[in-house]
Amino acid sequence: MKILLIEDENGLIVTLTDRLVSEGFEVVSANDGKKGFELGLADKFDLIVLDVMLPKKNGYDVCRDLRQKGVNTPILMLTAKGETIDKVLGLKLGADDYLTKPFEVIELMARVEALLRRSPVQTNGRSAELVRFGDVSIDFKRAEVTRNDERVDLSAMEFKLLQFLIENQGDVHSRDHLLDAVWGYDAMPTTRTVDVHIAWLRQKLEDNPRHPQYIHTVHGMGYKFVA
Ligand code: CA
Repeated sequence: MKILLIEDENGLIVTLTDRLVSEGFEVVSANDGKKGFELGLADKFDLIVLDVMLPKKNGYDVCRDLRQKGVNTPILMLTAKGETIDKVLGLKLGADDYLTKPFEVIELMARVEALLRRSPVQTNGRSAELVRFGDVSIDFKRAEVTRNDERVDLSAMEFKLLQFLIENQGDVHSRDHLLDAVWGYDAMPTTRTVDVHIAWLRQKLEDNPRHPQYIHTVHGMGYKFVA
């Protein structure tokens, strides 16, 4: 497992690299956003840990540009406490999870493991390999989604959420249940995280996201998938 660490605090680079290497990960680090973006584009990683405040190119721009280039590696963003930023912004730009500084290394390890476990590259084979609805087709084995034969880029968590909804289609899921089932822990992501990911799935997959045909809101209860 190979991790790209984009962070400009040397102390944190050393601490995190030591810990990740001792857990068996291979770590490549970049101490500015431009270099991080170039590495993320040039090489294949299993996970990217991305600081927001970085020299040369900030974390939001790195995240957005990597996604635009079709890199769908899970991204864990690191934000500083007290930063007046909309945490939802990073999710909108394609990040999969957040951790607010300062954090305990063990917290970061938990997030890293959760994201890797949920990476679409490692589908567990429970689902059908190929699912079609409307003009959308999903290859679970290859973690690829196409619409009208054009590739749709989903982030790791968007993919896992979609997969969960499809595997349990017809059932209504509360936001809390989706957080538990898809994100797998209830620490940082809020139910707003679920809403944002649902909104983006609709944007990417529905003809009319305001009147979704497949990903339905059940008022006062949550969401369900119907094909
Ligand atoms: Ca920083």
